[in-house]
Amino acid sequence: MSDCLFCRIVRGEIPATKVYEDDQILAFKDIAPKAPVHILVIPKQHIATLSDVRSEDSAVLGHLLAVTPRIAGEQGCSDGFRSIINTGRVGGQEVYHLHLHILGGDTPLPAMLKY
Ligand code: AMP
Ligand code: ZN
Repeated sequence: MSDCLFCRIVRGEIPATKVYEDDQILAFKDIAPKAPVHILVIPKQHIATLSDVRSEDSAVLGHLLAVTPRIAGEQGCSDGFRSIINTGRVGGQEVYHLHLHILGGDTPLPAMLKY
């Protein structure tokens, strides 16, 4: 059984503030929010990174993307939000279970990247 952090959240072994759940995906509040609204949306099945996605994962990822705006709206992103998937070392991925960040709030977010 996977000891992946987010797989453990899916199994209920680690607490999380869940905001949406169905048979394929789970959304919960980020433990260290970087914006007034910061939600993570994950497939329940373990996929390590976006680079590991296979064609048979298309349905669950399509579903995840399709539900994301509804989750964002229910969490208070009434006028837009940012969605981010960090991938691998260069992408700054810390948890190796694919997740989409929803970031938002009442005011526009800062510039996406600064060098
Ligand atoms: P990333 O850098 O894209 O891999 O993002 C991982 C995110 O997971 C970070 O924003 C962390 O704050 C968040 N995180 C780590 N552990 C937990 C946890 N137990 N519950 C909720 N969010 C977490
Ligand atoms: Zn996992």
